[in-house]
Amino acid sequence: MRSDGVVHPAWQELGDLVVPRACGGCGAPGHRWCPGCTDELAAAVHPGCVVGHLGGVPVWAGGDYRGALRALVRGYKDGGRRDLRPVLAQVAVDPLRAALAAVTAEGGGPAGERPVLVVPAPSRARTRRARGDDPVSDLARAAVARLGDEGVQVRLVLRTRGVARDQSGLSRTERRRNLAGRVGVRDGVTLPRGAAVLLLDDVVTTGATLAACRDALRQTGVHRIGAVCCARVP
Ligand SMILES: [Zn+2]
Repeated sequence: MRSDGVVHPAWQELGDLVVPRACGGCGAPGHRWCPGCTDELAAAVHPGCVVGHLGGVPVWAGGDYRGALRALVRGYKDGGRRDLRPVLAQVAVDPLRAALAAVTAEGGGPAGERPVLVVPAPSRARTRRARGDDPVSDLARAAVARLGDEGVQVRLVLRTRGVARDQSGLSRTERRRNLAGRVGVRDGVTLPRGAAVLLLDDVVTTGATLAACRDALRQTGVHRIGAVCCARVP
């Protein structure tokens, strides 16, 4: 809920999507995401909130990784609840819009003249195979579709190679070491001249992934880089 006590229609609509299963937030039957969790989520999301620089890039986050937002991210990514994608994509829309305005202003002209690419943070190949899909890329597509800006495209630009371990559970230093030199640009990908890139991830913790992505992008000549995440680990 916003400070003026009004639930935005987009959130209301998501809460009303009734499917014959349990709420991904609290387990209540009959909703994929119940009205109570919709209120909690709307209160947890701070539109356009800049959380500062992590991994050397400015980061815009939907909110802090706790409560309903944490349940939503975990349900979507690790709990097999891909049906929660529209709810999570809605969380990403406002920070995406704020980041877009910032990188566009930095370029000094209208968005149409300088393409903005939304680039999903790459998953480890092994993780992708185990899950059978790529939830972060799917999330990026859903968020950009909700944004409704034809000047913004999702491009799968980055890949990982030989990443030893999953990042979760590692310390800041371990995360950086784990990723060092292991994120690169996919073969055959070229980026438009003057493009700005918004990296998109579900959760940002230490910024180690963002730093590795930034280094890979800079080698392609991209220098306007920002990041958007649904949740930031405080
Ligand atoms: Zn619920």
